[in-house]
Parts: sequence; structure tokens; C-alpha cells
Amino acid sequence: MSKALAIHLYARFSRILHTMNPTCIFCKIAAGQAKAKIVYQDEQVTAFLDIHPVAPTHVLIVPNRHIESVNHASPEDESTLGGMFLVARKIAEAEGIANSGYRLIVNTNADGGQTVFHLHMHLIGGQRMRYPMG
Ligand code: AMP
Ligand code: ZN
Repeated sequence: MSKALAIHLYARFSRILHTMNPTCIFCKIAAGQAKAKIVYQDEQVTAFLDIHPVAPTHVLIVPNRHIESVNHASPEDESTLGGMFLVARKIAEAEGIANSGYRLIVNTNADGGQTVFHLHMHLIGGQRMRYPMG
């Protein structure tokens, strides 16, 4: 193996290790290593169906990079986090619920009800949401 190729492979491998938590189910889904019904994917973001849907449409939108929660987001994540909203809108349009409406939720830590510690946005819709929240 040439030295250049070795350096390239090392750089690539360490980048994957750096951005992926090998014990995280959402990292594995984004990397194609765990099964999920993926509805959208690009360089920054993956969206897939929630396994326990609470409404006719229930999609999870996650950054491909492992970010534990909103508390762990850094300025370099800004475009990815903004991208998650645009992906949510795209999926809502594709699902035909953009006009009827939908809810976007990002739970953080215990009081927020976060159970999977890889930042994710719930896109739920297809029915009238209940109030009050909280
Ligand atoms: P939260 O309570 O905000 O952390 O939401 C976690 C969500 O992830 C829940 O709605 C779960 O149903 C969903 N979930 C957990 N594991 C999977 C999985 N392997 N594939 C799809 N959705 C999942
Ligand atoms: Zn992860």
C-alpha cells in the first residue's frame, strides 16, 4: 500500500470514528448499519420512520454526526441543525401534511423525555395534535 493511500485511509477511518458512536442506534441507522425505513438522506441528515409511531406521520430527523442532545450542539453544527428544519418541511410536503399542519419536537434530557441520546427531531402529523403541551 502506498503511503498516500495509507494516510487517506487513516484520515477517513478516524473521521468516521470521530463522528460515529458505535453503540448508538441512530448513528448505526444513519450509517446504514442498522435497519430502518429511511425516507430521506443527504450528507448532513437522515430521516426515518419512528418504530413506535404516535400519529399517522411520525418521522425522526437526525444529524448523521453523533450529537448527544441540543446541549451538545456546537456552532459548527449550525447548518446541520438548520438543515433539519428544511428536511422536515420537505418531508411534510411529500407526506401531504404541510398545509394541514404538523408538529416538530426535540426532547432534551430527562425532563424533556429524551430516551435516545442522539439528537433527533420528531415530525408528527396527519391528525390534530393535542393541547396543552407540557
Ligand atoms: P425521544 O423520546 O425523544 O428520545 O424519542 C426517541 C424515539 O426513537 C421514540 O419515539 C422511539 O420510538 C424511537 N426509536 C427508538 N429506537 C428506534 C429505532 N431503532 N428505529 C426507529 N425509531 C426508534
Ligand atoms: Zn449517535
